[in-house]
Amino acid sequence: MCQRVRLYDWAESPTHLQFNRFILTGYRPLTNIICCVKSLVYLHNELVNVYTHGNVIYHLFMSHAGGAVVYKKLLQLDMCGIWTANTFGVLSTFAASFQDTVVLSWLVPIVYLLLSTFSIHKAVTSKCQSDRVLAFLSPVIYRWTVVTLRVFGKIGGNPFANYYLVWMEVLAAAGAIINVCRIPERWLPGRFDYVMNSHQIMHILSFIALINSQWGAMEDLAWMSRTVS
Ligand SMILES: [Zn+2]
Repeated sequence: MCQRVRLYDWAESPTHLQFNRFILTGYRPLTNIICCVKSLVYLHNELVNVYTHGNVIYHLFMSHAGGAVVYKKLLQLDMCGIWTANTFGVLSTFAASFQDTVVLSWLVPIVYLLLSTFSIHKAVTSKCQSDRVLAFLSPVIYRWTVVTLRVFGKIGGNPFANYYLVWMEVLAAAGAIINVCRIPERWLPGRFDYVMNSHQIMHILSFIALINSQWGAMEDLAWMSRTVS
């Protein structure tokens, strides 16, 4: 049974959960699966992360009594979720961009998939957060290159989709930078323990980026169906 929950300060929390030294309070004690699920209904410093994340498992169960071993598995699962969204969410962008060139229409996505596969391997074997974010840099730069070529009209694709694609990249990059830099909590440690800390802002920006990605994909798919017929 879950006992009455006393939340911990940063110094009292398990070492593997001390990844943000500017979040000072609100840490859940290590506990079982049932009590992790029950933490959906009381305030702690991961609650907003749970409700703003597409994959809630990592944030909900990171305080499981299995400790660092379970935490590492959950983190890897989270990385795989991010990788899936990043990898498969942009394939329609490549398809539209290189629709007129058969070789490139295959080659560009294949190179991207290889870069993405390399990045997820690096991400799940990284020891720290900045290395995990940097692991995704090569596919991101690859995408930026394609989007830039589109914006300047050098390749195909629906021009109306470019607006959404640029916003997707800007918002995703802003979220990653804010998350790594621990902004705003590094300026006022303890003031953003529960709401509007860097990780939560990153979740919100990533969600808006994902919506822009979907809108861009819909514009591209509609454009391809018009140009093929
Ligand atoms: Zn998260």
